[in-house]
Amino acid sequence: MGMIISGKQIISRLKEDIKEQLSSYNGVPHISIILNMEDEPSKSYVKSIQKTAEKNGFNISLYKVDNNTTEDELIEIIDALSTDNNIDGIIVTRPYVTRMKKDIINRIHKWKDIDGQTDWNMISLYKNEDGLYPATPLAVMEFFREVNYKLRGKHAVIVGRSKTVGLPLFFMLLREDATLTVCHSKTDNIKKYTEKADVVISAAGVPHLITKDMVENASFLVDVGINVVDGKIVGDMDIDYEEFEKDEKDLKFITPVPGGVGPVTTYMLLLNTLYGMKQRGKI
Ligand code: NAD
Repeated sequence: MGMIISGKQIISRLKEDIKEQLSSYNGVPHISIILNMEDEPSKSYVKSIQKTAEKNGFNISLYKVDNNTTEDELIEIIDALSTDNNIDGIIVTRPYVTRMKKDIINRIHKWKDIDGQTDWNMISLYKNEDGLYPATPLAVMEFFREVNYKLRGKHAVIVGRSKTVGLPLFFMLLREDATLTVCHSKTDNIKKYTEKADVVISAAGVPHLITKDMVENASFLVDVGINVVDGKIVGDMDIDYEEFEKDEKDLKFITPVPGGVGPVTTYMLLLNTLYGMKQRGKI
């Protein structure tokens, strides 16, 4: 049987968690987003964060930057937000504006770095220590949790090795005792790896990259890709959902695009904000 795990069912659980955590707090958590105005997808991503955050009792403020913003101005914004106790989360949209260097990102307060962008938080993940981890890979892990899928002993193939998705996923899956293969743009013949995998996660940003014949043996497919083809949003996986659901052989899972990992990611940003506030003694 093929099962499509929609983000919606996960979100209803996460919403309750957020509500519960906020019930003991007397204020409104505040997230600041430094938005790269040169990048159109960032603008629509931020709009959706704004909508979800406000619906769930969070305040959002925007700092619009572009390639004319000086390094000093960027530092000034980040330092002000990092030291202001009223600010609980800071996100810098990617791609960064040209002057947004890593040493500027690293000035973000570690417990306000709600998308795990600083070196401190990246190292925490690598060392399996407490920290704020990137939201998208955290969202992916929620899909396994949702259906109680056991990763121990499974062979998982990650397609994509970015610092925001593929690489952090490697550490998160390893922690669950999966055996990992990471494919990327220089991998020869991805099918050779995916056709043997139990789990395939695609985060390449290439439409139609993963086709049905490449994942015949997999029991869990996660599509992180968000691509626009002919004005429609599609993932990296070229899988017919209806056909997938009709498959009667084994129990198999897939995350859809749209409506899968994407919307859950925003909720992980909110949960990270609350976790950071706890660490700062605010809730
Ligand atoms: P990125 O461009 O930083 O990294 C893409 C990775 O895929 C690279 O490691 C590259 O080596 C690999 N890759 C590229 N082409 C490939 C190919 N033909 N075969 C194999 N590997 C290839 O992108 P990213 O920021 O990691 O995002 C990846 C995708 O995930 C994009 O579609 C993006 O829109 C989406 N995304 C979704 C969410 C979400 O919340 N669902 C969040 C972030 C990114």
